Amino acid sequence: MTLNIDNPALLCSQSLINGEWRHAADGRRLAVTNPASGELIAEVPDCTPQDAQAAVDAAQKAFAVFRHGVAKERAALLKRWHGLVMANQEDLARLMSLEQGKPLAESRTEVAYGASYIEWFAEEAKRADGDIIPQQSQNHRLLVIRQPVGVVAAITPWNFPMAMLARKIAPAIAAGCAVVCKPAEDTPLTALAMAKLLQQAGAPAGLINVLTTSRERAGPLADVWLADARVRKISFTGSTAVGKHLARESAGTLKRLSLELGGNAPFIVFDDADIDAAVAGLMVAKFRNAGQTCICPNRVYVQQAVYERFIGKLAEKVGSLTIGPAAGGRAEIGPLINARAVEKVEQHLKDALEQGARLVVGGQRHACPDAPNGHFFTPTVVADVTAAMRMSCEETFGPVVPVTSFATEAEVVEMANATPFGLAAYFYSRDIDRIWEVAEAIEAGMVAVNDGALSTEIAPFGGIKDSGYGREGSRYGLDEYMNIKYIRHGSLARRLPG
Ligand code: ADP
Repeated sequence: MTLNIDNPALLCSQSLINGEWRHAADGRRLAVTNPASGELIAEVPDCTPQDAQAAVDAAQKAFAVFRHGVAKERAALLKRWHGLVMANQEDLARLMSLEQGKPLAESRTEVAYGASYIEWFAEEAKRADGDIIPQQSQNHRLLVIRQPVGVVAAITPWNFPMAMLARKIAPAIAAGCAVVCKPAEDTPLTALAMAKLLQQAGAPAGLINVLTTSRERAGPLADVWLADARVRKISFTGSTAVGKHLARESAGTLKRLSLELGGNAPFIVFDDADIDAAVAGLMVAKFRNAGQTCICPNRVYVQQAVYERFIGKLAEKVGSLTIGPAAGGRAEIGPLINARAVEKVEQHLKDALEQGARLVVGGQRHACPDAPNGHFFTPTVVADVTAAMRMSCEETFGPVVPVTSFATEAEVVEMANATPFGLAAYFYSRDIDRIWEVAEAIEAGMVAVNDGALSTEIAPFGGIKDSGYGREGSRYGLDEYMNIKYIRHGSLARRLPG
C-alpha cells in the first residue's frame, strides 16, 4: 500500500517543538515501516533528552499564557481541531492503516472515535464549574475553583495511534494545560499529522509538542520529563511494567498520573444467555485490531451446559474471517504490529497445546500472497484452556480466543477475579438478579453486560489494580487535568441588620 492522500501536509517527517518542525538534536532518524509488507514508509526524528528538555521549556512558556485564557476560547480551539480532523478523516485513516496495519474501515472508525473525545472535551471545557460552600459565619466566604495542573506529558501506544493521543491532548487543552507528547515508535506518523492539524486549528507555539523517538531512546527521553518538576502530570497508556516505572520515577516530583495499563479481560457466558448474541459480542470485542486492544477478552468462560454449542458457533464465525493487508480494503483481520507480536502468540499457543488445550480452529501464521512479509496470524479458537496456561495469565494481544468451561456463578466470578489486572470485563446472561450480582462482584473498571462494545467518549474509561488508575472521557475525565483550589475570603464586615 503506497500512501495515497489528498492532503500531503499530513505526512510530517519532523518533530514539533515550540511551534517549529525540527530534526532530532543529533540528527538521528527512525524508520517507520508498514507491518503488512515491511516496507519503509518514512523516516522521523529519533529525539534525544536534549529535545525533551526543549519541549518542556516550550510547553511551560506556552502554559504561562494559555492558563489565563477563558474556557470558551479553549473550547473553540478544540472545535476547530475536531473539524479539521473530521475533514481529514480519510487521509488520517490511510496514514494510520499504513503504519499500524489495521483494516481501513477500522482506521476510519478510530478517527471518528478519537475525534469524539475532542468534541466532548470542547464541550466539557465550558463546564469546569467550581463551588461555593455555605460559610460557617457571616464574615467569610468559601469558594472552590478548578485550575489546570500545568505541563502534561502524554505517552501513547501503537494500537490506537490516533484515539489514545486525542483522548489525552483534548482534556489537557480543555483544562488549560500545555502538552509534551511521545507517540509509540511503531506509529509516529498519525501523531505528527494530528499535531499538524492542531497547529492549523490555531494552537499557540509550544502548547502541543510531539517528539518521536525509537524504543531505545524512549526511556532516556521520558526520564527528562520524569525528573522535571515543571511537568505536573503524566498520562500514559501502555504496559503495566512501563506504567509502574513511570509511577516510581515520578515520585521524586510527585506528579499526578493517569495510567491506562494492561488488561486480561474475562468474557463470561452463562447458560441462560442468548448464545448467538454472546458469539456476536465476542467477535466484536475480540477481533477489533486483530485482538490487539487492552480491553479485548483474553479469557472466555462458558458454562458447562452450553460449552460445546458455544464453541461450535464461535468456530464457524472465526473460521470465516478474512485476513489481509489494509490495502485490499476487504480484510477484517490485519497483520500484527511486528514480528515480536507474532512470536508471542505462537509461544502462548504452544504452551497451551502442550498442557492439553484443544485447538478448534486456526493456530498458525497466515501467509498472505499480497503481503508475503506481513506479520499475519490466523484467527484461532482454543478450548479446554486452564488457569495455569500463559494465555490465561498474560495478554496474548493477538487473534486467539481461549475458552474454559465453568460450573457455577461463584466459581466463575472467582476465576474472573483471579488476576492482578482489572480493566474490562464482559458477561452474557438474561437473569436479572445474576446480572446485578456479577456486575458488582467483578473486579474491573468497566463491565459490559450483554454487549461486546464498551468504549465511548461519554463514559469513563479506565481500570483498577494492575490495570492502572485515572479515567479518560466522560464528565470525570477533565478532573484528571485540573487541580482543586479552595479560596477563603475572610474578614468580611457584616452590614445588613439581623
Ligand atoms: P507495548 O508493549 O504495548 O509496546 P509499552 O508500555 O512498552 O507497551 O509502550 C507504550 C509506550 O511507552 C510507547 O510509546 C513506548 O515507546 C513507551 N515506553 C517504553 N518504554 C518506556 C520508558 N522506559 N519510559 C517511557 N516510555 C516508555
